[in-house]
Amino acid sequence: MNPDFLYAIRTCPALDPAVRDDFPMTGIQSHGKPFAYLNNAATTLKPLPVLEAMDRYYREYGSPIHRGADRIAHKATTAFESVRRTVARFLGTPHPEAVVFTGGTTAGLNLVCLSYGELVVGAGDEVVVTPNEHHANYVPWQQLCRRKNAKLVLAPLDANGCLQPEALESVMTERTRIVACSHITNVMGAAMDLRALAAVVHRHGAVIVVDGAQGVVHERPDVVGWDIDFYAFSGHKLYGPTGVGVLYGRPALLEKMPPVVMGGEMIDIVDVYETSFREPPWRFEAGTLPVAEVIGLGAAIDYVLELGYCGMQKKVLGLTERAVRGLSGLENVHVYNPENAFSGVLSFNIRGVHPHDASSVYDREGIALRAGHHCSQPTMRWLGVGATLRASFAIYNDDSEVDRLIEASKKAGDFLDVLF
Ligand code: PMP
Repeated sequence: MNPDFLYAIRTCPALDPAVRDDFPMTGIQSHGKPFAYLNNAATTLKPLPVLEAMDRYYREYGSPIHRGADRIAHKATTAFESVRRTVARFLGTPHPEAVVFTGGTTAGLNLVCLSYGELVVGAGDEVVVTPNEHHANYVPWQQLCRRKNAKLVLAPLDANGCLQPEALESVMTERTRIVACSHITNVMGAAMDLRALAAVVHRHGAVIVVDGAQGVVHERPDVVGWDIDFYAFSGHKLYGPTGVGVLYGRPALLEKMPPVVMGGEMIDIVDVYETSFREPPWRFEAGTLPVAEVIGLGAAIDYVLELGYCGMQKKVLGLTERAVRGLSGLENVHVYNPENAFSGVLSFNIRGVHPHDASSVYDREGIALRAGHHCSQPTMRWLGVGATLRASFAIYNDDSEVDRLIEASKKAGDFLDVLF
């Protein structure tokens, strides 16, 4: 991580600790202890403005969008479409029509693969991925390459799991059609310099597809400034609802892409044997969309923009650095990514204790974290382990929860002694 960037984060004003009170779930108990939710890379808790926006939709104007001629349906459609403009501003594009609502990151990445990928990748072509991708940004490309007799190329990563521009350059060829990588990875928490990577990709005439599931939470995307072709993220990792996500696509590329899912509202004229399709983004939004969730996503984006990314980054960085210090100080704990504190993700193992066994110790202490391969078996292979523990931090966590994580890790380290 660029030291100037980290300095800017450290010197920005701290978030008000009262932010925690915006999240009702921070007040619950588990096993009779205050619930410490440290599984934020899997999904985040939801603040009141998001819950209230969704509740208001269902109570006051829960009508269909684009499918009703009455005043209330019009209100629902207006609210829904205004979120498209909010998302566009958030992502840094002047084009709301570049914003496709999806079911989440997985759906967005699959859409790019099944539409754009099917269109441009042929036999002998190459698709570049990294060995640290989530399955959602790995398996679709792997399977596309198998279908097309194309080559899946793995770009080398540095010791922190970061894809450096020179390393990407070393695998680019005239057959490279697509480069798919994460903004921030979900196990190593490695943050990519997307602007530099996009420049390499475009010099070779390929397109860059970014999995923004983790990145969008910790660094505000700038799709136009960074010259990104596709960027997918999920609402539920950004303090918004489940079941909704966004795919940003460069307008000129979306224009060329065929729809993948067919049905209501994505058509222009349906003739007996032929159908013409609507323009993007509606071409890619067949069927009834999750209206309340889109409205909740809009509220989540308003919420984070109101707090400001700098304050959120400072908070998460402080918590993660505290956890890195504490865990690295324990004799039997190995932290895999101590350099990547900016991303709020910490992957570690306790020597001699399987992560699944350890996770039951954390659970008894009222702490939620994740154990396993984190939907990235390629990363486990890259690390040379079967599974890890993963603690991940968000704006409502506090130092006492980090300290409980460290104490529980000591206990989990004694797990073998308890067993035998
Ligand atoms: N990519 C990354 C890096 C992720 O962390 C996740 C969620 N674990 C996904 C993709 C998939 O997101 P979703 O399940 O919301 O589609």
